[in-house]
Amino acid sequence: MHIRDIIAQHGTTFSFEFFPARIESASAELFANIRQLEPLKPSFVSVTYGAGGSTRELTHDLVVRLKTETTLDPMPHLTCVCHDEAQITAILERYAHAGISNIMTLRGDVPRDLASPGDAWKDFRHAAQLVRFIRRFADRKVHADSRGFGIAVAGYPEGHPETPNRMVELDMLKAKVDEGADCIVTQLFFDNRDFYDFRARCELAGIRVPIIAGIMPITSRAGMKRMAELALGARYPAPLIRALNRAADDEEGVKRVGIHWATEQCRDLLDHNVAGLHFYTLNRSTATREIYATLGVKDSHGLKR
Ligand SMILES: Cc1cc2nc3c(=O)[nH]c(=O)nc-3n(C[C@H](O)[C@H](O)[C@H](O)COP(=O)(O)OP(=O)(O)OC[C@H]3O[C@@H](n4cnc5c(N)ncnc54)[C@H](O)[C@@H]3O)c2cc1C
Repeated sequence: MHIRDIIAQHGTTFSFEFFPARIESASAELFANIRQLEPLKPSFVSVTYGAGGSTRELTHDLVVRLKTETTLDPMPHLTCVCHDEAQITAILERYAHAGISNIMTLRGDVPRDLASPGDAWKDFRHAAQLVRFIRRFADRKVHADSRGFGIAVAGYPEGHPETPNRMVELDMLKAKVDEGADCIVTQLFFDNRDFYDFRARCELAGIRVPIIAGIMPITSRAGMKRMAELALGARYPAPLIRALNRAADDEEGVKRVGIHWATEQCRDLLDHNVAGLHFYTLNRSTATREIYATLGVKDSHGLKR
């Protein structure tokens, strides 16, 4: 279903993010976890895309499997890096024929193993250009929906490191929306004040599309460190660090603190009329299921704001 219709119907969206597994055993485990998450009836699920197209087939295969074998509505991620117009067109045509409704439209980061970083940029340098291209793809009349694909783009409550000037950053975000993005999904954050301030600054900048909050429950110390490196931010607030320190090296304790923190974040966001909650599941199911249960949410349909 087109993301605009999902948002209109669901009131508050709940969505889950997965990454495609590279080996058979991990893929089987992922699918077992997906089966456990399915009864929560998420508004949509998204599947990441490896930098430079490194998971092109894996992403496509997982998306099609989700579409054909489950009740879930998959939204593939797609990035600019290393792709030209012909490649993007071929990917979009395949998704249109598979009945996919929405694309998470991103720039991506330059793969570390690329011989020359300049090779990363072919026809698309910024996500806004890819948004425009996907929007214009509707004119080809390949997609069953006359609006073409619904489009989600990324936003950064803690700021994106490449644009320290936060006013310019919002101009760049607005450019993506002006090119046709239907909603914004944010990078993970741990202090809701960052999200509320970001949402208010978007409003002041004239960005009127729904902003879905990215939530990543901490489930281990190692994961927490990796997250800080990958996520271009992840400012851990002192009260969270204090609670994790109390848990010390008790792995179960760390997990409980992380899930409790994320649950409180979600409760507060729901109380503040968040447009949606997007869970970075890390391909697991326990944390998301526990958060749903503690929030008193049975499934994602009909939770009106
Ligand atoms: C919800 C979400 C999902 C993600 N999924 C993936 C994934 O599947 N695969 C992956 O590889 N990465 C993914 N990422 C990471 C993302 O690709 C990186 O954060 C990347 O660095 C920026 O992508 P973007 O789409 O935000 O880029 P852009 O919106 O293009 O912005 C990137 C930077 O360039 C600046 N900028 C934008 N336009 C201009 C312009 N015209 N002139 C000058 N500067 C400009 C922006 O201010 C920003 O600092 C995801 C991020 C989020 C939040």
